[in-house]
Amino acid sequence: MSPDPVKGLILVVEDERAISDLLRLYLSREGFGVQVESDGLAGLSAARTLHPAAIILDVGLPSMDGTEICRKLRAESNWTPVLFCTARDDEVDRVVGLELGADDYITKPFSPREVVARVKAVVRRAVQAASSEGPLNLGEVIVDPVTRRVTAGGNPVQLTATEFDLLEHLITNQGRVFSRDQLLSEVWGYAAIVGTRTVDVHVAQVRTKLGDYSPIRTVRGVGYSAELEP
Ligand code: CA
Repeated sequence: MSPDPVKGLILVVEDERAISDLLRLYLSREGFGVQVESDGLAGLSAARTLHPAAIILDVGLPSMDGTEICRKLRAESNWTPVLFCTARDDEVDRVVGLELGADDYITKPFSPREVVARVKAVVRRAVQAASSEGPLNLGEVIVDPVTRRVTAGGNPVQLTATEFDLLEHLITNQGRVFSRDQLLSEVWGYAAIVGTRTVDVHVAQVRTKLGDYSPIRTVRGVGYSAELEP
């Protein structure tokens, strides 16, 4: 059974194998992709490179504490939703008291069903926050996240769901350059099920449909960005 690409990848950073196995089982049953790291530094690196939809972060970890991972990500303006797993009440105090930018926390022992429900909630909130800003525009291209309509030079453009998501993502983050792997993870949601060639194909289709109004720029050796010609 392959994961539903819409749901995205959940990064689980947890050094207790029994817990990470359980989380992997329950999350993948719900259609999420799951990446498990059992070490703090590896977890931080995965959070930076995989662009997961959410992170389940244990507090006590080898090589780097979960709170330190969250602090570093927030310092880099990485706002991936973080759900902390805490083993003791004093850890809850640290997570809550330090204002680390955690989205939620849960105390061990927990029910895997509850963790899944919390993960769904933080992912949903993040999606709503990203799409609550009304129509986006870049030059003559207008993208409405609510109606999912696109116009270019005042004319409606018919995009597939994935083409829309791709264009919306680039325009939301206009000026930022994305690698193909980043786009796969952030737009397709689950990097492992399609290859990076898919990104090129979809970019080409969006460009064709937008014609001269297309704001998508190829950054040689890196990937793509949306910006107006200087
Ligand atoms: Ca631990």
